[in-house]
Amino acid sequence: MIRLSLLARGQSLGQARCSIATPSTRRTFTPSLFNNNIRSFSTAWTLRNEAKESATPTKPFKVAVIGSGPGGFYAAHRILKHVPQSSIDMFEALPVPHGLVRFGVAPDHPEVKNVMHTFDEVAENPNFTFIGNTSVGTYVTPGSEKADLEISDIRPHYDAILLAYGAHEDRLLGVPNEQTLKGVMAARSFVGFYNGLPCEQDLQVDLSKADTAVVIGQGNVALDVARILLTPLEELKKTDLTERMIKILEKSRVKHVHVVGRRGPLEVAFTAKELREMLQLPETTFYMDQELLASEMERAGKTLERPRKRLMGLLEKGIKESKPDQPKSWSLHFLRSPLGFSGDNDNQLKAIELGINRLEGENSNRKAVATGEKETLPCDLAFRSIGYKSVGIQGIPFDDRKGVVPNMDGKVVDAEQNIVPGFYASGWLKRGPIGVIATTMADAYQTADTIIADWTSGQPMLNNDVSSKQGGKPVLDLLKTKGHKTVSYQDWKKIEQKEFELGAKVGKPREKFLTVEEMLKVVD
Ligand code: FAD
Repeated sequence: MIRLSLLARGQSLGQARCSIATPSTRRTFTPSLFNNNIRSFSTAWTLRNEAKESATPTKPFKVAVIGSGPGGFYAAHRILKHVPQSSIDMFEALPVPHGLVRFGVAPDHPEVKNVMHTFDEVAENPNFTFIGNTSVGTYVTPGSEKADLEISDIRPHYDAILLAYGAHEDRLLGVPNEQTLKGVMAARSFVGFYNGLPCEQDLQVDLSKADTAVVIGQGNVALDVARILLTPLEELKKTDLTERMIKILEKSRVKHVHVVGRRGPLEVAFTAKELREMLQLPETTFYMDQELLASEMERAGKTLERPRKRLMGLLEKGIKESKPDQPKSWSLHFLRSPLGFSGDNDNQLKAIELGINRLEGENSNRKAVATGEKETLPCDLAFRSIGYKSVGIQGIPFDDRKGVVPNMDGKVVDAEQNIVPGFYASGWLKRGPIGVIATTMADAYQTADTIIADWTSGQPMLNNDVSSKQGGKPVLDLLKTKGHKTVSYQDWKKIEQKEFELGAKVGKPREKFLTVEEMLKVVD
């Protein structure tokens, strides 16, 4: 029987493979795209089945996970479930876990944050240890702070290391004044600021003199930013938005938000839920170029896939039902690329210059081409929302162009595509900074299945001398000798409890601590 394994999302056809199964044997092979140095790979489906069929080794299996977002937690969950003798130490740079679920997901999306309960269940497993307030691996970016531990400190003590440290930088537009003018900032920093991320609390956010904001980018993060700026404060006060941000919003004079993209309506990256929320904002008019939408839809015709068609339908409905002349407004601007920002004598942003594009190419691959025409859009605030970016850590392969740790099904490979035994990647670091938590879960499971299959089939991992691997104990001893304070999951639950109590006093689900010092004080 010949079976073509299902393609995982984001996987290219070149990574698809066939598995040939007979009633008694199963053999796997990869297309010639991969060189001979690489052992056969398979997709998650095949790996799961191979893992089940192999005789499971009974020796202890020690895994270190770097990063406690969904990419780390979901992989840990699966490994603990399928390898009973496994133990997992999860290192997290911050004293608090859950990555972008805490510091990215918008405060008015509390239902999304329920995944934290699943992560709590994982942490209850006696074979799971959370080592918070402990960064592993110094970033290669010049000027980066030295990490609390290097990979070489932890490597001797584990069978496998899973890199799941996400994407914490942002992409620049590469246009004049984007880093010098007051009022221009990264959406990533703003999101971190309003969600209480300690390293973003110095961001200068003044909405008291701003009337008009521009968000560059048309993904969900862009709409999150626009929505936070335009949602009635009474609604936001019921969420876990920080009190610091609420105070800033109390003085906000922002009335208009332009969401700008370089291509057309068919190429937007936001999803229906986020668009619907924007269209339902009270006392807010919605504008966009209706003719462009109609002509692009006509052009695409039957090639338009159903989800995209639904999204375009929502836009059409939004235009039709939008009430004119409301006190606030938001708009989608298409076919515009930022050329630069200009400010006043106080270095305060006053306008953005936009180049006008036209679209060329096939429906599935429309490209924005500059027409040479320009326009100026007055604004007081600008957020660049063109994507998060992962960076490499010392000693680990990194693909600068793609911004990921190079890997196959989660198994780290070097520039020549040779496997780096014992190293794995998951989450945004593996796939790039796209996709929701569900996508990250599927991909973390794929990596976990790769790890499980490697372990059960006796593939080389870190240090084949089994006796030397003791997991976290020597690492914690090392941290102790350095006088470094770690945070356990029980400690985190104390911090969280305190946040719940502080939140209850002001009618919110929680009030987040804004500094690492405040967090550590709770557990001292
Ligand atoms: P992260 O969640 O970023 O986790 C990485 C973790 O690694 C962090 O805790 C970080 O502190 C830690 N870390 C970093 N460096 C080190 C180091 N050297 N040592 C130790 N630890 C380290 N998805 C949804 O489904 N719904 C939404 O509403 C939604 N909203 C979003 C809003 C925003 C603004 C963003 C940016 C994303 C949103 N997502 C949403 C997507 C979702 O958050 C991601 O898919 C997911 O968090 C990616 O998981 P990750 O584990 O790869 O990375």
